[in-house]
Amino acid sequence: MVGGGIDDLLAATRERYAAVRPASRALHDRATRVLPGGHTRTVLHFDPFPFRVTHAEGPWLVDADGHRYADLLGNYTAGLLGHAPDAVRAAVTETLARGWSVGATQAHEVELAELVTARFPSIARVRFTNSGTEANVYAIAAALHATGRRGVLAMRGGYHGGVLTFGDAPSPINVPHEYHLTDFNDARALDADFAAVAPRLGCAIVEPLLGSAGCIPGTPEYLGRLRELCDAHDVPLIFDEVMTSRLGPAGLQGELGITPDLTTLGKYLGGGFSFGAFGGREDIMSVFSPRPVPLSLGSMASRAQRAARPAPSPLAHAGTFNNNPVSMSAGVAALRHVLTPEAVRAVNARGDGLREALNAIFAEHRVPLWTAGRGSMMNVHGSPGPVRTVADAARGDDRWKELYFFAMLERGYYLARRGFIALSLEVTDEILDGFVAATRDWAASAPTA
Ligand code: PMP
Repeated sequence: MVGGGIDDLLAATRERYAAVRPASRALHDRATRVLPGGHTRTVLHFDPFPFRVTHAEGPWLVDADGHRYADLLGNYTAGLLGHAPDAVRAAVTETLARGWSVGATQAHEVELAELVTARFPSIARVRFTNSGTEANVYAIAAALHATGRRGVLAMRGGYHGGVLTFGDAPSPINVPHEYHLTDFNDARALDADFAAVAPRLGCAIVEPLLGSAGCIPGTPEYLGRLRELCDAHDVPLIFDEVMTSRLGPAGLQGELGITPDLTTLGKYLGGGFSFGAFGGREDIMSVFSPRPVPLSLGSMASRAQRAARPAPSPLAHAGTFNNNPVSMSAGVAALRHVLTPEAVRAVNARGDGLREALNAIFAEHRVPLWTAGRGSMMNVHGSPGPVRTVADAARGDDRWKELYFFAMLERGYYLARRGFIALSLEVTDEILDGFVAATRDWAASAPTA
């Protein structure tokens, strides 16, 4: 189909969407008078206006106009547990009965720290934050302070929070560090880019599967090479596993067998409440203790260098809600009772099956869409694929994704406007079968490229 055709189709689809959602439209109009753009989380907006959710019913979301959607977005991975995990509800209810705004330490944070360090072997010491963004801000700060260096190696297309966003260039509102960018999954570029700035680097940060850039898995070779380079130059390697820690019982690092120096966590690990965490090597994390220890250098360091290295000064890590009892007790319940290794493996196996089913349908009907990802995290791209790099993702035609998005909403399935899907434990095989059937139904009548 030619460009004009798909544009007309899209315009008609948007009109159909808007016509049956007067209540959401009215709320959007009200919102634009008090919230810039009508929202307070940019990713939730799409044109002509997003539907407004009134409540969840099991794995379904219900909007202000009474439409019901199977929730395949799972709050961008934070909703892994679904909308009604009994164990979390019971824990939070108990916490609410005991008081939730206590400016004091309590037992919940100790228990959660014990569970997190037991689950992720690379995390010897951990600290809690309110969001994944904060976790990354602090992890980077800790690594720079511990090494006494200023450079941060990051990936083009990487996302570590609104103030740590890397497109082709760092976002203008990024935390103002000295950034050096390289290309994800391009080992040759990595070798050259790393070598050019190695002595300046105080850390390298990477998401082992680029989530926001389109669920692009890092190849084991690429991530292994990054680990080697960081070892060779004593550069702490930070794995941002805010999203990807759900891809295996011990995170994606556990699946890959690659051990970072620091790891950041967030999203679902607070049981669905606001949450973030960063942790890792004892020496780096000791900057937040009263008596930091000198960095224990890696394979290249001689004993003399090690002895000459001064201990960094102690840092404060503040945050009124860092140890808030609701998130802490919800996280404990989630890890203890819900996120068993079996449950984590099962939801990821389901995701693998769904990705394969979608790609088979797109190929069979010659629809120029392709689903990238791993396990329960995936992203439909507007190209016939495969999508293995950020450049591959950028080549896609966004209109196809939009068409698919609205077609699925019409059939009662909610994924992100950008094509992102994150399955929750609540999504049943029946729902997935229905979604695959809806995709097949749409693909069979969709225009061909
Ligand atoms: N890192 C990654 C990889 C993320 O996907 C996100 C959120 N999408 C963040 C960090 C930021 O987390 P939060 O939204 O909790 O600040």
